[in-house]
Amino acid sequence: MTIFNQQVVGLIEHHMSALNLSLLQNCPLHQFTTIGIGGPARLLVQTKNAAALEQVIAFVNVHKIPFRVFGHGSNVIISDEGLDELVIINQSENYKILTKAEANALPGITISQYSNVTLQLRELSEKKSDGAEKIVVRVDSGTRLESLINRLFEQGIYGLEWFAGIPATVGGAVYTNMDHGRKSFGAVVRLARLIDEKSAFTVSSEYFQFRENYSILRDKKAVVLWVDLLLKKGDVTHARQIAEHNFTLKSLQPQRSAGVAFRNLTEEQRLRLNLPTGSVGYLIDRILGLRGAVIGGAKISEDHAAFIENTGHATARDVYNLFQKVNAAARSQTGISLEADISFLGRYD
Ligand SMILES: Cc1cc2nc3c(=O)[nH]c(=O)nc-3n(C[C@H](O)[C@H](O)[C@H](O)COP(=O)(O)OP(=O)(O)OC[C@H]3O[C@@H](n4cnc5c(N)ncnc54)[C@H](O)[C@@H]3O)c2cc1C
Repeated sequence: MTIFNQQVVGLIEHHMSALNLSLLQNCPLHQFTTIGIGGPARLLVQTKNAAALEQVIAFVNVHKIPFRVFGHGSNVIISDEGLDELVIINQSENYKILTKAEANALPGITISQYSNVTLQLRELSEKKSDGAEKIVVRVDSGTRLESLINRLFEQGIYGLEWFAGIPATVGGAVYTNMDHGRKSFGAVVRLARLIDEKSAFTVSSEYFQFRENYSILRDKKAVVLWVDLLLKKGDVTHARQIAEHNFTLKSLQPQRSAGVAFRNLTEEQRLRLNLPTGSVGYLIDRILGLRGAVIGGAKISEDHAAFIENTGHATARDVYNLFQKVNAAARSQTGISLEADISFLGRYD
C-alpha cells in the first residue's frame, strides 16, 4: 500500500516538470547503490545541481511529502520492498574556487559561531611553511569526491587526497563525517548551506558537531546543498602521490559493498578482550571465525572481513541476516554488541 495516490503523484509530477526534472515511478534503487541492492523507490527524481536540489526540497517540505536524499549510495542498504518515499538522487559536477573577497563574505551565517569562523578566515591569508596558500572551494553537495580531487589537482589545489578512492559525494561525506586513516572530512569543512523543513540557512563547521562517524545530520533532517571546503593551493606533487596510494588501497576493497559494515572496537572493548588490535575485521576473522561466511548472495569478504559484499544476486534481507549472524556470534562469544557502520533503510521485519 503506497501513501502516494494519483492526485499527489500528479501534483509532484507537475511541479517537477516545471523544474525541468523527470519524475520516475517505482524506480529500482539497486542501480543507485554501490552494493547493487535495493527495491523500488515509489517516486524518484535526479537533481543535477544545488539550486535544483534546493527547489525540490523546498517543494516537498511545503507539501509534507516524505523524501530521502542519496548521493552515491555507498553507505546504505535499501530494503527489498523499497522505499515508499520520493527519493532524490543528488548528482552534480559543480564547484567554484572563491576569491578571498567571496570567501570572506560569509553568506548569511545564522549560527553564532563567528569566533571560530574568524579564526579560520585569518588562516586564509597565511602562507603555510610548505609554500601553500589556503583557499576556499564551494562545492555542490552532489559532487563526487573522486572527480573533484582530480579536477582540483589540475588547478593546483589539494587537501582532499586522503579520501581518494572513496566512492562518496560531498553531501554523503559530510553526513557520515567520512574518514580515512586519521583524516576526517569534517576537518576541511568551513561553511555549508543547508535546507530543513523551515528554510535554507548557512552554518559554520561547528554546527555539525563532527566526531568519529558522526555529524548532527544523523539526528536532524537537514539536507546539505553546498559546502565550502578549506583547501590549499601550491605544488600538488606530494598530494597526488598520496591520492594514488589511497586510490590503490581502496580499489583492493570490495567495491560491491556499502563500505565497512561494522564499527571497530573501542579501546575499552579491545582491552577487555585482550586483542592486539581494535579492528573489527580481526575480531570477525580470528575470534569469530566468520571470514567468508555466506547467507544467500551476501558474503563476509575473504579479503576484508569487516565488509559484507554482494557476490551477485544478494538481497537486502541476505545482508541484514548476515549482519545479524555476525552480531549474534559477537554477543555470544565476546559479550560485545557490534555497531553498524552502514545504514539499513526500509523494512526488515
Ligand atoms: C569500497 C568502499 C570503500 C569505502 N571506504 C570508506 C572509507 O574509507 N571511509 C569512510 O568513511 N567511508 C567509506 N565508505 C563508505 C561511504 O563511501 C561513505 O560513508 C560516504 O561518505 C557516503 O557518501 P554517499 O554520497 O555515497 O552517501 P549515501 O550512501 O548516498 O548516503 C549516506 C547517508 O547520507 C545522507 N546524505 C547523502 N547526501 C546528503 C545530503 N546532501 N544532505 C544530507 N544527507 C545526505 C543519506 O540520506 C544517507 O543517510 C566506503 C564505501 C565503499 C563502497
